[in-house]
Amino acid sequence: MTLLEQFLLPFGSADTPPSAQQSPSTGGSTTADPKAPSLPPNRTGKKHRTVALQGHAVPWLLKRTRRKTVGMSIGQGMIQVNAPRWVPISDIEYILQEKSKWLLARLAEWHQSEQHRLVPERQWAHGASLHYLGKPLTLMIAPALRQTQWDDFRRELQLALPAEATMEQIRDTVHAWLQGQAKTLFATRLKAISNQSGRAFSKFSLSNARGRWGSCTEDGHIRLNWRLIHFSQEVIDYVIAHELAHTYTMDHSKSFWDEVAEILPNYEEGKSVLRKARLDTLPTF
Ligand SMILES: [Zn+2]
Repeated sequence: MTLLEQFLLPFGSADTPPSAQQSPSTGGSTTADPKAPSLPPNRTGKKHRTVALQGHAVPWLLKRTRRKTVGMSIGQGMIQVNAPRWVPISDIEYILQEKSKWLLARLAEWHQSEQHRLVPERQWAHGASLHYLGKPLTLMIAPALRQTQWDDFRRELQLALPAEATMEQIRDTVHAWLQGQAKTLFATRLKAISNQSGRAFSKFSLSNARGRWGSCTEDGHIRLNWRLIHFSQEVIDYVIAHELAHTYTMDHSKSFWDEVAEILPNYEEGKSVLRKARLDTLPTF
């Protein structure tokens, strides 16, 4: 079996960034308490909730404090609210609505922040975000559900897990779901592109190889890395076209790239997205 070198990108290995900062993009709130934000998740006495702000399901965490006013800040990808005990939830939700524009802007900043490095405690928690088919997806713990559900409109992955689910349970559930999606979607795209271009393959499977997005053997067995599920369909299609072209030639000569272009005329776009991808932001499982 000839296994092809492929996409030898510095894939992952940034598993645990050294003591990542405590998401400091919390400033600016009118009444934010500077000492309160950025506590570790799932501390007792705090409750995860979700509020709809301008059509986005936004996770928020309430902490009852002795302070006299309601304070809001952004931390760990969600809104952190500190409020006196006598303020009812409905009033807090009203305040969140009032400040929705500001809060959504801060949240977007938080997600884009270079300092937002993936550490397991934040990556595998209610409200955490990861990329699915090129766009962010939000993880939601949904104890009332019997099985994991994908809400395409809200881009929420609703996990049928108990409220006190551990980080490992969340990670494993997400992992299984993503791999399942990868298997179905890649098989469908591979078949479609193969039929459409008249390039055959003998077998398809998922791979988990570090540093390799895809491979193709001389007898036409195509393997695609399941982590491609984090990328848009253009990227997935490009890797499929690349591997199908290898059933024609094993090298990366000009005629190989001509072959790729015949299979997928606009392959350049997906290729460039993949080349520029920041792999250190991919989740680590
Ligand atoms: Zn190749």
